Amino acid sequence: MSEKTKGQNLAETLFYKKKNAFELWSAEEREAAQKYCVDYMKFLDDGKTEREALVAAIRILEKEGFREYKLGDKINAGDKLYYNNREKSLYIISAGTEPIECGVRVSAAHIDSPRLDLKQHPLYESDGLGYFKTHYYGGVRKYQWITVPLALHGTVIKANGESVDVRIGDNPGDPVFCITDLLPHLAKDQNAKSLGQAFTGEGLNILIAGSPYFEEDGKQTPASDKVKLMVMAYLNEKYGMTEADFMSAELCLVPAANAVDVGLDRWLIGAYGHDDRVCGYTALTAMIENKNSEHTLVCVLADKEETGSDGVTGMQCCLLTDIIDELAVNLGGNPRVVRANSLCLSADVSAGFDPLYPEVYEKRNSSLLSCGVAMAKYTGSGGKGSTNDAGAEFVGKIRAMFDRDNVLWQTAELGRVDQGGGGTVAKYIANENIDTVDIGVPVLSMHAPFEVVSKADVYSAHKAFSAFCK
Ligand code: MN
Ligand code: MN
Repeated sequence: MSEKTKGQNLAETLFYKKKNAFELWSAEEREAAQKYCVDYMKFLDDGKTEREALVAAIRILEKEGFREYKLGDKINAGDKLYYNNREKSLYIISAGTEPIECGVRVSAAHIDSPRLDLKQHPLYESDGLGYFKTHYYGGVRKYQWITVPLALHGTVIKANGESVDVRIGDNPGDPVFCITDLLPHLAKDQNAKSLGQAFTGEGLNILIAGSPYFEEDGKQTPASDKVKLMVMAYLNEKYGMTEADFMSAELCLVPAANAVDVGLDRWLIGAYGHDDRVCGYTALTAMIENKNSEHTLVCVLADKEETGSDGVTGMQCCLLTDIIDELAVNLGGNPRVVRANSLCLSADVSAGFDPLYPEVYEKRNSSLLSCGVAMAKYTGSGGKGSTNDAGAEFVGKIRAMFDRDNVLWQTAELGRVDQGGGGTVAKYIANENIDTVDIGVPVLSMHAPFEVVSKADVYSAHKAFSAFCK
């Protein structure tokens, strides 16, 4: 064997080489990653809407000794709390023992995902079939939601103020719903349209019934709107609903399928809603594992990211600032100083490089599956427009934390320059004078009813959020 040349040694020292989990991890670490993802997949199945994900998260938190907090309650060092914001977004707090003016460490993920929301007057029938009208929520590629089994989820506030949860389509034996498509034999005109024009928002109507209402004598009703009546009679019997109750309801269609392993080696997970419950779950469990950290930790599971973070449950709401102010006042600090010294990981997924579509990526700067959690220093579009471009000093600080704890991580940029773009909650938190950078799991088929991630990256995200809590 000849000795390495000086150049070869220099190259090893000076060059950055991206490595994947399979090159770097021991059998024990691979097993730990596989094991960690079992409960993550259950979390996905439990929570297919922000409301359901919030309930699943609270169940986990209460088991770990966290208790409900209301704005204005006294907070003491060492308290483990959660704030339930209108059943849709969750703020988890672990009050540390170090002075609060050292700042708060915030991990902010979102638990809403693209889907099809029912309109306020959704129900109609046509030619013997019953339908729901929808208005899609978030960035949906419409064709992906057609001929896919869908489940009906949501909450109805009835006329008497009573709240009732609806969930039909995921349990064994449940019926499902769908949007139908043309047969290829008759699709000549549709095939000639562009992908973006072939399917319209008003065309995303859900097939929900195929029979009329039957009278007690077994004959179909002479009433008009027979199929519509069948649907309302069912909903009335099961949930006590009348048609007017749709006006004060939030019902939506989500994929009926549950999370599954993808690939013969079972290293990938296919599921609805990895974006962004994968960061929500990994940040949540990291915070629970580090709940005795000397730092004050806040984990946010936000709503409305997919529609721009507006509203009382989105990250543009002042609630995070209010909670940090409450922490400052209760633990004896100046809120402005606390915010100035706070750090945030905006925990959201990145677009993983897809070998089937290399033309939209710049591979050198894309996140690759199984190469670890991905850090996006900046997002945005059109010359970094609308980005939180994290400072090099802050990126350096986070990099050091990850390296200290052997976190497998890489950088990510959302596709080729000027191919498109996108944003996260990062800028809204940074606008409150909190250093923020985007960190998340690379995803294939992002926003599709069936998104794909690598278990190695899920586990790496968990380790990354954990390193941040320490
Ligand atoms: Mn997201
Ligand atoms: Mn998204």
